[in-house]
Amino acid sequence: METHRAHDYRFLTVRWRALARAARLRLETLNVVGRTPVFFLRGGALQKEGGIYVSAGIHGDEAASTEALITWAEQNVDRLQSMPLILFPCLNPWGLIRNCRFDERGVDLNRVFHLQTTPMIESLKQIVAPYQFKLALMLHEDFDAQGLYLYEIEREQPSWGESLLAAARPVIPIEKRARVDGRKAIDGLIRRRFVAKNFLQMGYPEAIWLHVRHTKRAFTVETPSEFALQQRIQAQMAVIDECVRLAMPG
Ligand SMILES: [Zn+2]
Repeated sequence: METHRAHDYRFLTVRWRALARAARLRLETLNVVGRTPVFFLRGGALQKEGGIYVSAGIHGDEAASTEALITWAEQNVDRLQSMPLILFPCLNPWGLIRNCRFDERGVDLNRVFHLQTTPMIESLKQIVAPYQFKLALMLHEDFDAQGLYLYEIEREQPSWGESLLAAARPVIPIEKRARVDGRKAIDGLIRRRFVAKNFLQMGYPEAIWLHVRHTKRAFTVETPSEFALQQRIQAQMAVIDECVRLAMPG
């Protein structure tokens, strides 16, 4: 495992290209930042309804996310052709290369989805415009975390949050604190309702925008970035696995 290269975007791209070739899928260009292309990949069975959206690397200092998504895809290469997936391997390569949360203009890309100011995000919105997803998963990390935790935007019942946490629990400790980032957490689960004015104040994250427009189930997983990289990668992979299992029963 090439964990020491977690911030090597060129190498990440080499892996995604090889994966797409092996899966007989096309790695598509989302946008170009400076001279750096940003990619996405559609599984062979993606339809307008019922797909699974997974994105990584919108914050460049959360390298387990980009590593988990490519490693998961590599391990499932034979299934990608028959899966209704859309994968965004790294939404902020500039940040990943520099181990920085923000993009090249100092913008937190996860707070501007309500605006029309960021070409990268506008491209993403255009690509996903036709789709209604069964589930969307955003991969993140938190350096204050003492275990893995999950944001779930409350809407569809039964909730899947507990199942996603249960999938990660054998791999990594679950956050025990009762308040995380100022919000109430129960056994690593932070349930939030969508209240437009609260989110407008903060700036729309990807999960909120997807929730409002494209899915009833939006999850954000956060691994503790002080833990070993390999463990964080495995934990995020377990959550991706469980998302796929829940969204594609049978
Ligand atoms: Zn993040």
